[in-house]
Amino acid sequence: MKSMKDQKIKGLKIYNTLTGTKEGFTPIHEDYVGMYVCGPTLYSEPHMGNMRTFINFDLVYRYLIYLGYKVKYVRNITDAGHITNSAGEQEDSIGKAARLEQLQPLEIVYKYNVRFQNLQKIYNLLPPTIEPTATGHIQEQIEIIEKIMENGFAYEVNGSVYFDVQTYKKSFNYGELSGRKVEELENETRDLNAQSEKRFFADFALWKKANQNDMQIWRSPWGDGNPGWHIECTAMSTKYLGETFDIHGGGLDLKFPHHEDEIAQSCGSSGKAPAKFWMHANMLNVNGKKMSKSLGNFFLPQEIVEGATDLFDKAYAPNVLRFFMMQSHYRSTLDLTQDALNASEKGMARLTESIETLDQITFADKSSFDVKAIVESFYDAMNDDFNAPILIAGLFDAVKKINLIKDGKESISQKDQKLLLEEMKGFVLDVLGLTLDGNQKDNRLNPVMDLVLELRQQARANKDWATSDLIRDGLKNAGISVKDGKDNTSWQ
Ligand code: AMP
Ligand code: ZN
Repeated sequence: MKSMKDQKIKGLKIYNTLTGTKEGFTPIHEDYVGMYVCGPTLYSEPHMGNMRTFINFDLVYRYLIYLGYKVKYVRNITDAGHITNSAGEQEDSIGKAARLEQLQPLEIVYKYNVRFQNLQKIYNLLPPTIEPTATGHIQEQIEIIEKIMENGFAYEVNGSVYFDVQTYKKSFNYGELSGRKVEELENETRDLNAQSEKRFFADFALWKKANQNDMQIWRSPWGDGNPGWHIECTAMSTKYLGETFDIHGGGLDLKFPHHEDEIAQSCGSSGKAPAKFWMHANMLNVNGKKMSKSLGNFFLPQEIVEGATDLFDKAYAPNVLRFFMMQSHYRSTLDLTQDALNASEKGMARLTESIETLDQITFADKSSFDVKAIVESFYDAMNDDFNAPILIAGLFDAVKKINLIKDGKESISQKDQKLLLEEMKGFVLDVLGLTLDGNQKDNRLNPVMDLVLELRQQARANKDWATSDLIRDGLKNAGISVKDGKDNTSWQ
């Protein structure tokens, strides 16, 4: 008999930004999936918004594995060529950080990569198959630029190379992903830099001639310079996944121009579209605005688990944050509020408790409800474009049933208990990437900490600062930090 996974693997549908529809997913090579996701530019520590995108693709990766696919997941690290516009000046973000922090560019990248890798552990992300860097693939980028030039879709001016959008448009559809019409882009184009070198305002740089401020420079057939922003992803996705692969993902803000230009580079060099499916994860907002460095409304993933952000008056376990994020579909925006986090904390505790109850439950000869249908609903939710919120609703349907069994109002057979327990654990741990012991601080410490904090409170009320400092320092030495909020004191 076919297992449920074998039956369900055929039912996966993914929303493809390229076509604007949900399409049935069949990988190019049976049983294998190739997935590329645009990774971080490590000129600073990734913020919680960046993490949301990586957590969403971790969910995709995990579910593909759960279904039984062998997945090659490539997520790059941008350590060169990320030019940003600040105050009208074009500057390489890593070079700028290097100057400010008085470090070498790759020291900057290493410093923030150590933190990024640590965050992935804290938030329970599975490591991708490979995390290649732009600086490690300069040669591959140059070779692709050469191919694009040979095909007549790029031109050199004064040591820089630009993609020729007008010529490309004669053979391919520039704008097919974003739905943008080139003619309508003109007014939006604020990139005045190098406009005089370009034949057409929408042309974009594949290679930039070095300027005197550059902190990293490479040799190329066109002289010393830097790769453009988009070419690294084309080079690395082609190298590790081939000219056409299954899934390309990234944050929604990368759809244009970054992903549109990746498609143009692939078609312009190999004649083939890079990916069958384009997936875009939506933004994490704070009070309705995209969390971003430039708006200053960001906080760091580490700060929230340490209770060190002013936005919230207590610390939250990474598991609770992950659960909170999973309660919203990856294509929806998500607003971060303290109330929502508190609700997630309670929800995660209920789910954990219920799985423990199910583990200990007394069996009956027969189940009084359709257990298989509940388990199928887990797969059906995820098969519908990775709909984690619907999956969680299904898990809570199971929680209700488990409570009724406990109260003697429903019953479950041994075989069904095994199935439900296995799949609830599978979806909670392996697919959603949650842990059953991480949503609370160590429960056994709760009564002890209540007592210690009560004594500290009394000492403070009596202005006995020596005792309250003794308690605080003692807790600190034990690795416990205490935070006093408006209404309560929390610890981590
Ligand atoms: P960057 O390091 O700026 O290149 O961004 C890395 C990734 O984080 C990209 O895929 C962005 O789309 C994504 N990203 C940036 N800000 C947010 C946000 N507020 N919410 C979700 N994803 C974001
Ligand atoms: Zn990219």
